[in-house]
Amino acid sequence: MAAYVRPIKAGSLAHEQAPLLIRSCPVGSGVFRLARRFTGGSWPAWHGRRVMVRLIRWLALLLGVFMLMARPALAQSILRDAETEAFMADMSAPLVKAAGMAPRNVQVLVINDPEINAFVAGGQYVWVHSGLIAQADNVNQLQGVVAHELGHIEGGHIVRFGEGIREATGVTLLSLVLGAAAIAAGGAEAGMGIMGLGQQAAMSKFLAFSRGQESSADLAGARYLSTAGISGRGSLEFFKKLQNQEYRLAIPQDNSYGRTHPLSGERINVLREVYTVDPAWDKPVDKALEARFERIKAKLVGFVSEPTQTLIKYPESDQSIPAHYARAYAWHKSAYPQRALHEADALLAAMPDDPYFLELKGQILLESGRPKDAIAPLREAVRLTNQPLISVLLAHALIATEDEANFAEAEQVLRLAVARDRENPFAWYQLGVVYERRGDTPRAALATAERYAMMGQHPMALRSADAAMQGLKPGTVDYLRAQDIAMVSRAAIEQQRKKR
Ligand SMILES: [Zn+2]
Repeated sequence: MAAYVRPIKAGSLAHEQAPLLIRSCPVGSGVFRLARRFTGGSWPAWHGRRVMVRLIRWLALLLGVFMLMARPALAQSILRDAETEAFMADMSAPLVKAAGMAPRNVQVLVINDPEINAFVAGGQYVWVHSGLIAQADNVNQLQGVVAHELGHIEGGHIVRFGEGIREATGVTLLSLVLGAAAIAAGGAEAGMGIMGLGQQAAMSKFLAFSRGQESSADLAGARYLSTAGISGRGSLEFFKKLQNQEYRLAIPQDNSYGRTHPLSGERINVLREVYTVDPAWDKPVDKALEARFERIKAKLVGFVSEPTQTLIKYPESDQSIPAHYARAYAWHKSAYPQRALHEADALLAAMPDDPYFLELKGQILLESGRPKDAIAPLREAVRLTNQPLISVLLAHALIATEDEANFAEAEQVLRLAVARDRENPFAWYQLGVVYERRGDTPRAALATAERYAMMGQHPMALRSADAAMQGLKPGTVDYLRAQDIAMVSRAAIEQQRKKR
């Protein structure tokens, strides 16, 4: 859950992160954790197991979807999905390499926002709106957008904000994660508040790119596409599509790609000249990659759209893999687990060893109150991918069985998950739960300390770290980690006190 928090280096804590810098270039970037729509507000007065299931479902939602509720117009969330992230990494890797950067340092992430847009923020992060993916006709178009955005990163199109603003934007990306952690910890309102604030700060600070920066990003993007041997056809198609849409819908300039990515006919003409003479111009779209794109697009549409809309777009008559995928999400969102399972089974009938189809099935089972049945497919999905996001889901299922026999496996799975993706507050939360259930109070305190440290709640982190050290054997890895957190938290508290 926290790959996008990489500014926090493993082994360091939240406040030590480098200042985040934001550049917006709206072109107007998940396991989307399947979950019933979270409407905020009243919880049904269920009891016992039902409450647990409901809680798990709710937390599962938070794991993947961070709802930002600052203002309705700004309502956004980050979508985390193992399959989507793997696809984004593979799709962008040749372009990132062509731009002279290391693929592991650049991440393409998805924001839940219907506006067709993409931007660069927080150093080497390319954010793509779900609306852009839904509107892209093929992977080549998406690659065109990403190439352009990478051009902004490589061009250093970053404005040095004033100290105050830099702090505000620093809050932003981090708060997207921290807010969710706060919610997972039980303070729903506090969590929402944190996220809303951060988001608002970010949105109001987005700056427009100049025409000069746009054309330099265009040319850099064209160079990356060429080096990677990818046709510029998709890029051109997509820019033309955006231009047409702007004319047609007369999207207000302050809320569109046009404002920050001035799109002119001239710009498109220049690109056409560059692209058409490139040897890759007539190269067809990579079929395997295209199939993956169709899958994640369907999944995304199913996840973010109203189920009725999804069922119109992907009617029952469509028996393709993407259609089954989209409908599985639509039915699950509508709380029709049997129908959702039917679609998942259709997918598994076609590809029995597909880890993401197994994950889907496991998630539907888990979230419809059948954690025991969810274990086998999730276990298999983890075995096939070793993806931390799926591991955390498996741990959910194991814990949700409330069967002590499953806690050891849950602990093992979570330990591996946090080792690979440390900045996952929800994984730490679950790990704390497992340790507590197993009577390992010091480690439960350490997991809590990790979580609070990540949330920037230094006094709580310090308290938990101190409590952990009381029970841990001095000199052990866990003890040293607790000591680290205590030290860093103490320094942060000191620093905050001085600021006042
Ligand atoms: Zn741009």
